[in-house]
Amino acid sequence: MAEADTLFDKIVRKEIPADIIYEDETCLAFRDIAPTAKTHFLVIPKNRDGLSRLSKAESRHETLIGHLLVVAAKVAKEEGLGEDGFRTVINDGKHGCQSVYHLHVHVIGG
Ligand code: AMP
Repeated sequence: MAEADTLFDKIVRKEIPADIIYEDETCLAFRDIAPTAKTHFLVIPKNRDGLSRLSKAESRHETLIGHLLVVAAKVAKEEGLGEDGFRTVINDGKHGCQSVYHLHVHVIGG
């Protein structure tokens, strides 16, 4: 069954604008529209492959999730967060305060 479209799918397809700061074949990083710190961006998979939330992760997703974290660190460095560090957050589900059901890593710093 096809997965329901998310807001972030529309950003991936460039149907709605976003401040994209990194893109490769498998993922996209863009600035959060409601930043909670000086620097706040999200890293998302272009193809969710069932990952509406982290709790849906299966062994086939190991490479993809690892890639999201490597990209989070690389872009954080490019954003000047390499020295002082940053926070990464993955909210999951209702009790995790998740609002967009398309896996995303928050990177927050500065
Ligand atoms: P979460 O609450 O973990 O699901 O995080 C969703 C995040 O997406 C929130 O921090 C929102 O501010 C952010 N967000 C929602 N819509 C947009 C958008 N159009 N562009 C960029 N960030 C967005």
